[in-house]
Amino acid sequence: TTLPDTSIFESLESEVRSYCRNWPAVFDKARGSWLVDESGREYLDFFAGAGALNYGHNNPVLKRALLSYLEGDGITHSLDMSTTAKRRLLETFEDTILRPRGLPYKVQFPGPTGTNAVEAALKLARKVTGRSSIVSFTNAFHGMTLGSLSVTGNAMKRAGAGIPLVHATPMPFDNYLDGSTEDFGWFSRLLDDAGSGLNRPAAVIVETVQGEGGVNVARPEWLRALADLCKERDILLIVDDVQMGCGRTGPFFSFEIAGIEPDIVTVSKSISGYGLPLALTLFKPELDVWSPGEHNGTFRGHNPAFVTAQAALEQYWSDDHLEKAVLAKGELLHRAFDELSRGFRGLSTRGRGLVRGLVFDDASQAGKVAQYAFEHGLLVETAGPQDEVVKLLPPLTIAQDELQHGLGILVDATITVCA
Ligand code: PMP
Repeated sequence: TTLPDTSIFESLESEVRSYCRNWPAVFDKARGSWLVDESGREYLDFFAGAGALNYGHNNPVLKRALLSYLEGDGITHSLDMSTTAKRRLLETFEDTILRPRGLPYKVQFPGPTGTNAVEAALKLARKVTGRSSIVSFTNAFHGMTLGSLSVTGNAMKRAGAGIPLVHATPMPFDNYLDGSTEDFGWFSRLLDDAGSGLNRPAAVIVETVQGEGGVNVARPEWLRALADLCKERDILLIVDDVQMGCGRTGPFFSFEIAGIEPDIVTVSKSISGYGLPLALTLFKPELDVWSPGEHNGTFRGHNPAFVTAQAALEQYWSDDHLEKAVLAKGELLHRAFDELSRGFRGLSTRGRGLVRGLVFDDASQAGKVAQYAFEHGLLVETAGPQDEVVKLLPPLTIAQDELQHGLGILVDATITVCA
């Protein structure tokens, strides 16, 4: 197959890169789990907009809702005004997500993207507690703006800011050491020791599965111990569910597996369900200390995104069909890659639900597997500090035969690269 000419993208003289380093193709159309490039070549999508397309491309149910809204002259942009579309989304979110789980959160629209949700969470925690420092985890990723970047572990990404960022304290993620961090006794000791140099933090921010960090999975008991620590020491717990929320790990919120109730939750990526920008910051009612206008932004009233979000909640979260399907398909991936990794030294797998990592001791092999996959019509990204993990994020709605097809390519890729 001849690949399309991408030279115009590479030659654009821009400080911001406007071409894609991994995938030399010009994509044109997409439906379900598939993308099509300008030459008509089809690609199975195990990337799904980095988790923003959990219900697939151009999901027909969401598309219908969007088109009928636009055709009826529904309002598109409304800042923080009250609109019918916003009310319908809030009512559906309450009915399908919050009330059935007994979660008491207030919902804020902090701005269009995940990093906006994280910034709002960090700001709120600082304002509520009157304390400034935030604890985050090794290999965490929370976004690219200054506050969220400050709590992101990856040195390469932090280098984008040039100089040191707002001070934040790193803590070892689950399994980063040897499992001895589980009871967090060491952290309590640091807090009590006036000589340790640790300021009492306003909040701890955590992903239950670190996506960009390389599919590092926190055990439920570790998450519970962390939540207990935060409660005992009066530190707010923020769960960043931007990538792992909206059913990626099975349940709507990824922290449900641990039975914890974070003080603040960030949601974005797949909440609109259609790839439209939308973010939510959820917080306990008693944390609602903001005065009007203290956290605002022009694009908080993206009504077409409210419409598709509402349709997605109604379609996929009124019952537990999707959650069960995610767990079943995830189990299929888990078994296949577990068996594959037993066949090769230096290969392992980890994940939860429909986020799965293939972890290569030799990072160059992960890149070669992703490259082989691209050449054979499958899009996968690499993640982790050395890009040593092939990260799989297929749409949650992917059909069984599509999943098997992608799986087959990845098995062939691994055998070709590692043999
Ligand atoms: N938090 C997490 C856990 C993420 O994975 C991401 C995006 N990869 C973000 C925050 C930032 O979201 P956005 O890129 O929409 O700003």
